[in-house]
Amino acid sequence: MAHEKKHELHSGGNCICPKCETKVGHKAGMPCSEEICPKCGAKMLREGSEHHLAFLEKKNKKK
Ligand SMILES: [Zn+2]
Repeated sequence: MAHEKKHELHSGGNCICPKCETKVGHKAGMPCSEEICPKCGAKMLREGSEHHLAFLEKKNKKK
């Protein structure tokens, strides 16, 4: 984790559940990783973030 990101992320966008793919609007000042999926209770990821992309990659490799 070499690069640090400041809190400069835009407030738009979505958080997405890695389990059931439910999307919710991202709230300003609330990291997606602290959001809980309303459907299954899993921790959410910011849509399009490194974490989300890494997750999708892993998922695709498991096929
Ligand atoms: Zn979910």
